[in-house]
Amino acid sequence: MHRVRLGWWGPEVSEVCFGSLAISPLQGRISHIEGQEVLRYAVTQGIDWIDTAEIYDNYDQLKPILKIFPELRIVTKSYASTAEELKTSLETSRKLLGRDILDMYLLHEQESHHTLKGHAAAWDTLLEAKSRGIVSSVGISTHTVQGVRAGALQPGLDVIHPLVNFQGLGIHDGSLGEMIEAIKFAASMGIGIYAMKVFGGGHLTKEPEKALNFIRSIPEIHAMALGMSSIEEIDFNLSFLAGDSISATLRQTVTSKEKKLYIADWCQGCGKCIETCSHQALSLKDGQACVDLDRCVLCGYCGRICPHFCLKIV
Ligand code: SF4
Ligand code: SF4
Repeated sequence: MHRVRLGWWGPEVSEVCFGSLAISPLQGRISHIEGQEVLRYAVTQGIDWIDTAEIYDNYDQLKPILKIFPELRIVTKSYASTAEELKTSLETSRKLLGRDILDMYLLHEQESHHTLKGHAAAWDTLLEAKSRGIVSSVGISTHTVQGVRAGALQPGLDVIHPLVNFQGLGIHDGSLGEMIEAIKFAASMGIGIYAMKVFGGGHLTKEPEKALNFIRSIPEIHAMALGMSSIEEIDFNLSFLAGDSISATLRQTVTSKEKKLYIADWCQGCGKCIETCSHQALSLKDGQACVDLDRCVLCGYCGRICPHFCLKIV
């Protein structure tokens, strides 16, 4: 597995980070145990860091794997905006993941300078946790060009996890070119960059080679988080990145997997899911939720909000 340095002062890690959203209950595509088996396999293949978030609700799934492989690095994220919320998030993460020290801690979905300003108390608390050695690196995840630019200028920030893929799918506030320029700006300041939604949340899985090559073609993107929920996806992605030959059968298995957001017909039309979707992919039509498939990045975040369990990635 190709190894990279995450920014000028960041840790050395495998080029691929395991994106655990794909095995989490939030996406609900595979069982708790199956997810652990997939993750375990990924680790045996050389992946040495895991991306998660408080919202993924899968700390209990990751904890046994982190215990078996103590050298694994863990990244998690929180929506906390106040000092108290951040302290609670940190303590919950440390306890439920079974780690005294968290390798990377990110503020989740920071979309602009204004968002970061609104989270200033949480950020200061995070810096304090870093100075106490509880957290090794701090940063943000973002779906926006403005988020990357604001993150680059944020004092004390080590790492940015931006949304980027070859079609620019899911970038909220600008073009793919603008996102790449922002990433280059952040990387030029020494910040570590690892990409999210490399496959556009599932929209680009028909062209996996193009998706992976695109990320690799930008040297300022040091690493990538890949959401994988099967052994075949791991084999395909890691073989391709290693330059190994891939059988037609494996390619067919991986590219034929389609994902979509399923909305059950018992939807009550309460509208609670609509504002949860930062991609504006949901709306109400004839008293029921409906999804704009071009906007949906299949994150599954809306599923946890629905009081009637109508939303699921299938
Ligand atoms: S509709 Fe749901 S799954 Fe799709 S992008 Fe919005 S929150 Fe994510
Ligand atoms: S939250 Fe659930 S019930 Fe309410 S509109 Fe959305 S899908 Fe329908």
